[in-house]
Amino acid sequence: MPLSEDQIAELGKQTLEARKLSYSPYSNFAVGAVLVSSSGEFIAGANVENACYGAGICAERTAMVKAITSGIKSFIAVGVASSAGTTTSPCGICRQFLREFAPVIDVYMFSEDGSYVLEPLTTLLPRSFGPSNLNIAEPLP
Ligand SMILES: [Zn+2]
Repeated sequence: MPLSEDQIAELGKQTLEARKLSYSPYSNFAVGAVLVSSSGEFIAGANVENACYGAGICAERTAMVKAITSGIKSFIAVGVASSAGTTTSPCGICRQFLREFAPVIDVYMFSEDGSYVLEPLTTLLPRSFGPSNLNIAEPLP
């Protein structure tokens, strides 16, 4: 289900704002991500780094973990924005993580001015691996 122009504008605003939640003293690369649930809720996340670099977590996974552990389980879109100013796409781990819960989610990658590039996750992660490959039912509709 595509977002309306108003929803896209709101998603861009909230995604750019979510960068302020970032804890990124090592990279100084702040990333915000906001999920849009099927019922229209916005769930924000940001990257959280760690002195043990590998223990950090990206914004997209932070948002998804917040949503899932809040009982929100169906998503139609995710916004991503970084402090780079230009569009930033989700890393490979996040593409896989999003796929578990939202295999056909639309990914909006926002620039500083609110313009965006839209790619469905199915394009960013073709021939993806998921629960059905393990003969497990997909967890969500
Ligand atoms: Zn990532």
